[in-house]
Amino acid sequence: MKTISLMGATGSIGTQTLDIIREHPEEFSLKAMSVGKNVVLTRKIIEEFQPELVSVQNYIDYNTLKEEYPHIKFIYGEEGIMETATYEKADILVNAVLGSIGLNPTLKAIEAGKTIAIANKETLVTAGHLVMEAASKHNVAILPVDSEHSAIFQSLQGEKDKNIERLILTASGGSFRDRTRSELENVTVEEALNHPNWSMGAKITIDSATMMNKGLEVIEAHWLFDLPYEKIDVLLHKESIIHSMVEFHDSSIKAQLGTPDMRVPIQYALTYPDRLPLATGKRLDLAKIGQLHFQEMDFKRFRCLQFAYEAGKIGGTMPTVLNAANETAVAAFLQGKIRFLQIEDLVEKALNHHQTVEFPSLDLIQEIDKETRKYVNTLLR
Ligand code: NDP
Ligand code: MG
Repeated sequence: MKTISLMGATGSIGTQTLDIIREHPEEFSLKAMSVGKNVVLTRKIIEEFQPELVSVQNYIDYNTLKEEYPHIKFIYGEEGIMETATYEKADILVNAVLGSIGLNPTLKAIEAGKTIAIANKETLVTAGHLVMEAASKHNVAILPVDSEHSAIFQSLQGEKDKNIERLILTASGGSFRDRTRSELENVTVEEALNHPNWSMGAKITIDSATMMNKGLEVIEAHWLFDLPYEKIDVLLHKESIIHSMVEFHDSSIKAQLGTPDMRVPIQYALTYPDRLPLATGKRLDLAKIGQLHFQEMDFKRFRCLQFAYEAGKIGGTMPTVLNAANETAVAAFLQGKIRFLQIEDLVEKALNHHQTVEFPSLDLIQEIDKETRKYVNTLLR
């Protein structure tokens, strides 16, 4: 029996992680979880899974829930997430919270020796060097949940790092794949939230439309697989069937294929190096799909991908700025405060405004993260 602490239990990845726990009650047990503001769903999860520890974002919800469920320990705020992440009775931390708020708790969980199943990409983008360094120091596994990184991780099983030629991350193209830049001027939030292949949280769906999601994934891959950016490529593949690939020196390419169902990579992170049957969900029917398409990436069309490569190569605090500016800009777009193309303008301005600092400490990263959000918010006004 593997015991689990789940950060972001009410989100898209969080609820799909719960699907897997529900489907395999002999294998997994939910011990602790953190949620944001969705109290209605939190109640349902508590009643079904009976976790021992629950962290909520706000004090007011904490007060209500602790009256309703006196047998459960409630906590709140950032401290609460931290305690969830390090809960002593959990072996694995699934980090499915949204945004760089996931960083601190992840570092604490690593120090506490927890295996980390990481969905939250902002954590690795913001401070990949600290996370990977801590993981190696404490001999802790960081298992990817993101489908691209899971595909690469699966393709690398049994292979030697020295034989890797390059990683090929596939990109669906998001909601606006077939639109020109001028057609993006006046797109609405609703249109942007309509992803052709994947059903995901709002922020990552917008990131997919701007291609920033792929940019964040390139940086994530750089840290997870310890490869230079020159060895990480992106290929447009509109069907989202090949989740990513690894090319080796002898020209062989290995890939992992599957339906676009996040439960597969989530479950693999939980069962690695073993596998379990997926209780529900479809099998891949390649004959029915018939054709798969591939296309070179257009960096002028998808400027955020270009920004991410540049920020990643510069390194230091630059990826922190990329991420914080993007989080702030996407939130503003979702609130209807800016137009779609302004997201990339704001990110570009924040990057140009910043002078990178090499090998930043956790304190400095958090300071730069805050400063960047503030700077982008001033641009918004
Ligand atoms: P969602 O928006 O669906 O869920 C986010 C979760 O985080 C919710 O549980 C939310 O709580 C919680 N949360 C948000 N802000 C806070 C906060 N300030 N304090 C505490 N909890 C908070 O996101 P996704 O599940 O889509 O994505 C989560 C992460 O996984 C992201 O980093 C994303 O990039 C990554 N990812 C997602 C994939 C997907 O298919 N969705 C695929 C690969 C990676 P509540 O709703 O209760 O407010
Ligand atoms: Mg992905």
